[in-house]
Amino acid sequence: MGSQPKFRILLSSEEIEAKVKALADEIRRDYQDKHPLLIGVLKGSFMFMADLIRLLDFPLEVEFIRLSSYGGSRESSGKVRVVQGLRSPIKGRDVLVIEDIVDTGLTTSFLLDYLQKKIPASLKLCALTDKPSRRQTPVTIDYLGFTVPNKFIVGYGLDWDEKFRYLPDICFIQEKG
Ligand code: 5GP
Repeated sequence: MGSQPKFRILLSSEEIEAKVKALADEIRRDYQDKHPLLIGVLKGSFMFMADLIRLLDFPLEVEFIRLSSYGGSRESSGKVRVVQGLRSPIKGRDVLVIEDIVDTGLTTSFLLDYLQKKIPASLKLCALTDKPSRRQTPVTIDYLGFTVPNKFIVGYGLDWDEKFRYLPDICFIQEKG
């Protein structure tokens, strides 16, 4: 152990930058007169959220929520709970959830149900990546960056046991041999 694993770039920082810009254009078109509340799902979405919001030049508010799903392992336990909740009410607000990845969909569908109970005016989902081959429960992604293959990805905010979030590209770990 101790040595750095080999990464293969799946999505380069240039591709990500272009996609974030395209997503910001769509979101601006739909939300610029709505004073929306963007809720980032910690921790994985922080980099995406920061880049996206820098491009949204209209009135909006930002919140974060933290859920537990993976713990230290690479498999979803299916059990989700809110570790850090919202600081402001969302009733009557136009809410846009910002996710790093929708994998089994268990975390996101839990979150959307949890938020829907708080009676927002509207509730939509923006996800940077989607791994549909792993889905266990249906999730509608209103604004999607990339569909990714069934590989564990890291970088651009996404971690592996808290490591590799700093990578500017989205990568997967090259198998040995
Ligand atoms: P789900 O509940 O959809 O299975 O997974 C949700 C969470 O699992 C994501 O928000 C993310 O934190 C984590 N996750 C799922 N797939 C991946 C992956 O390929 N890479 C990383 N780094 N995290 C993942």
